[in-house]
Amino acid sequence: MAWLEELNNNVTTAAGLAEIFSDIVIDKKIEDVLEKYPISIPRYYLSLINRDDPNDPIRKMCVPSFGEMDIGGSFDTSGENDNTVITGMQHKYSQTALILSTYCCAMYCRHCFRKRMVGAASNEVAIDFDKIFEYIKEYNEITNVLVSGGDAFLINNAVIENYLSALSSIDHLDYIRFGTRTPVVLPQRITEDTELVEILSRYNEKKQIYIVTQFNHPNEITDQSKEAVRLLRKAGIVIKNQTVLLKGINDKPETLGTLFRELTKIGVIPYYVFQCRPVSGVKNQFQVPIRDGYEIIEQAKNMQNGNGKCFRYAMSNKRGKVEIIGKGLNEGEMIFKFHQAKDKENRGKIFTKVLSKNECWVD
Ligand code: SF4
Repeated sequence: MAWLEELNNNVTTAAGLAEIFSDIVIDKKIEDVLEKYPISIPRYYLSLINRDDPNDPIRKMCVPSFGEMDIGGSFDTSGENDNTVITGMQHKYSQTALILSTYCCAMYCRHCFRKRMVGAASNEVAIDFDKIFEYIKEYNEITNVLVSGGDAFLINNAVIENYLSALSSIDHLDYIRFGTRTPVVLPQRITEDTELVEILSRYNEKKQIYIVTQFNHPNEITDQSKEAVRLLRKAGIVIKNQTVLLKGINDKPETLGTLFRELTKIGVIPYYVFQCRPVSGVKNQFQVPIRDGYEIIEQAKNMQNGNGKCFRYAMSNKRGKVEIIGKGLNEGEMIFKFHQAKDKENRGKIFTKVLSKNECWVD
């Protein structure tokens, strides 16, 4: 298939990068970064970069830097290991089951919070789907399943169909979600694979399918990504976007404001803006302090109509999904609310915390 050829043509080596970027030198330092955190960049995504600009936002999301060797932070900031009930399946919130379907992605984003596993053979991905299926069937409380990864659309169509066939037969599921960045980084996965769209369309008749994707910058919205979105929407799929707030990439009100407007224009609903997690190799490069993040996001919201501002600014920590609601009365005080909570007693609770100017995370 054409998209597989495209994927196989990804840049995956330091030599490949050096051919494209004149400032990249092949040496032990860069080889060390790549050995620890692999790269894989679709040529399509590379074509969105202004090569004369070393600070190009698209470049920062796909081209590695030495900052990734910084060991500050941790690899599992939201307790994924503790919430794993079967290999490859997490059950943190009572209504949601999360399946790690693969460790592969069309592109390995430098800011990924699953940096510990993407691109490397991982023992965290699902191996016994029957067992997972039985678990979900047993738990009436589960109302939705998120098939994620890695990138859920990197699994092949037959396996996607197996997931859909099994999950759509469970009455107590309201809908099925797929987490994929392919509309953004490799839209050919959708535009050049009519079979995938046909499968999604068919099962969408039985059970509503959602796609959760991640556009982080307006430059990612192109004719190709729009076409991928159009085809999915034509098939009846609802597409929601989770942006990650990233230093040097989208930490300006105008950038985020434009992104949300462009997304709503093409029928993609801004759903969350996530605080970047304190992940090793990510934290010191990409995190924006929470107090600044709040100001940026409020200004971006002011540029939107109702649809453009229906997202939440939130962070996923070990206790739950915590919304950053606003500023308190005291200097540096911020107000938070548990939007989702691992411990049922915390659901809906509000708390405040005084943050220093540079604080980027609340545990
Ligand atoms: S596509 Fe998603 S899972 Fe894959 S590297 Fe990017 S952020 Fe991580």
